[in-house]
Amino acid sequence: MDISKQKIEIDCSNCKSIIEVTLKQVADESTISCKCGQKIKLSDKDGSAKKSIKELNKALEDLDNSLKGLFK
Ligand SMILES: [Zn+2]
Repeated sequence: MDISKQKIEIDCSNCKSIIEVTLKQVADESTISCKCGQKIKLSDKDGSAKKSIKELNKALEDLDNSLKGLFK
């Protein structure tokens, strides 16, 4: 499981539709386009998306390791 593929929802500033983007797209500050044609530049203002990906992946890794430990 890769947490960077986790989807989050944002609102289009133009037509207010819900657009699904991945955490990775936010971390990469990708530009996406809405179905209405509006281009939206994703912004990871304080690096929080990157931080979440890092922290969650670490947590998953730890979980994985402790599960492995159970079945030695
Ligand atoms: Zn739109």
